Amino acid sequence: MSTALVWLRRDLRLHDSAALAAATAEAERVWTVFVFDTTILAPLPRQDRRVDFIHAAVADLHARAGLLVRVGDPRQIIPALARELGVDAVHASHDDDPAALARDAEVAAALPCPLHTCKDHVVLERAEVLTAAGRPYTVFTPYKRAWLQRLRPQDVAERVVRAERLVRGQDALPSLADLGFEASDLSPAVGRGEAGAQALLADFLPRMDRYDETRDFPGIKGPSYLGVHLRFGTVSVRELVRLAQSHSSGGAQTWLSELIWRDFYHQLLHHFPHAARLPFKPEYSAVSWDDNEAFFEAWCRGETGYPLVDAGMRQLAQTGYMHNRLRMVTASFLTKDLGIDWRRGEAWFAQLLLDFDLAANNGGWQWAASTGCDAQPWFRIFNPVTQSQKFDPEGRFIKRYCPELSHLDAKQIHEPWLHGGPAPIVDHAAARERTLARFAVVKKDQSL
Ligand SMILES: Cc1cc2nc3c(=O)[nH]c(=O)nc-3n(C[C@H](O)[C@H](O)[C@H](O)COP(=O)(O)OP(=O)(O)OC[C@H]3O[C@@H](n4cnc5c(N)ncnc54)[C@H](O)[C@@H]3O)c2cc1C
Repeated sequence: MSTALVWLRRDLRLHDSAALAAATAEAERVWTVFVFDTTILAPLPRQDRRVDFIHAAVADLHARAGLLVRVGDPRQIIPALARELGVDAVHASHDDDPAALARDAEVAAALPCPLHTCKDHVVLERAEVLTAAGRPYTVFTPYKRAWLQRLRPQDVAERVVRAERLVRGQDALPSLADLGFEASDLSPAVGRGEAGAQALLADFLPRMDRYDETRDFPGIKGPSYLGVHLRFGTVSVRELVRLAQSHSSGGAQTWLSELIWRDFYHQLLHHFPHAARLPFKPEYSAVSWDDNEAFFEAWCRGETGYPLVDAGMRQLAQTGYMHNRLRMVTASFLTKDLGIDWRRGEAWFAQLLLDFDLAANNGGWQWAASTGCDAQPWFRIFNPVTQSQKFDPEGRFIKRYCPELSHLDAKQIHEPWLHGGPAPIVDHAAARERTLARFAVVKKDQSL
């Protein structure tokens, strides 16, 4: 009787799972395992919300499917477990982060049987969408066009799992305390496990058709809030694409575009791994950033004096989520108003975002800093006051996170320093001039 082990990582679900479908199609007895990787956990704060989120998803699979749960370094644990169970193959879905690829290569080399990996996390991956000349796309719009042309029904078809072939393991579930962590303040609204993702999806579906009109306004419930579920695979991206395709509205098409942005950034990191550390465009290495620690700390704490920037930064610190518009505004503010290296902001987001994903976070930061491939041009600089007036016109969102401004009316709240409040840490007009000068080293690269 053929046997297999499925090693779950970014795919913490039973439904529509590529690795589980492949393993249960091939083998008659299939174990599943999740490893709490101590090399990843060691540097994290003891109340990390993501560890809480993962623990809940793992507990759910442990209860429903007898998931084996181990703690340690998967480089040793997975080969040892494969030997212990005597399986014919180990299956896992792709994780293209550079560190994960290196880890998987070590595991494959140490296994007594083959490691079969498959695509699951994105819809079209790696070199599946290339230009006619066989090169990767570095501009989103033609990439999206080619993605839509390339997409076949089987790319988004449900990967059917033969659940009757799953073998229940007998491992005890370690508690958060056993892992050295404490319960965090992760909001129940984030949803836990597959059921939590389905509840968020059900809540979003009636709103999907208006996503194009609502998604830019942090004060209203526009987006899906599914980012963390996509990140850890408690929902299948194929399921989301199927749902978007089944609606013809502008809202559904705009939402589908966002899911394609996700694939775009993943394939970029695959083809251009240097971007994880360096500007995508090498000539932007010549830009020299300021190193003002007090400014950086004010930005992290949400105390810059610009209300929309501060509200966004406080939302991130208090909840682990930040609205997409505010990610753009706060990233632009750090790089273009404070002149601080985008990599510092990227690292701060990586620590706090529930949905932190190397490819999307790096792509977003390089976009805002103008160092990316299809980025905001360096001379286009968000004005934090006009962004505030446009995207939070009543100041509803600002008042939620900056209660000290709740006495100001809709006109006043965007510039509290004109109404008795303290001056912001930098003057935007002066900062803008400094940024234009800072980017002068790459001026020849783009015409105004
Ligand atoms: C500076 C910066 C940093 C970012 N860091 C991350 C990150 O670490 N992880 C992350 O998933 N997204 C990141 N994004 C993209 C985007 O802001 C989030 O995906 C989105 O806000 C998550 O909220 P949601 O799930 O409600 O999204 P929705 O608006 O409902 O979108 C649905 C899904 O599409 C994907 N998506 C949406 N917008 C983008 C985008 N611009 N790029 C790539 N994928 C997208 C996400 O998976 C998202 O969950 C970043 C954007 C910027 C500007």
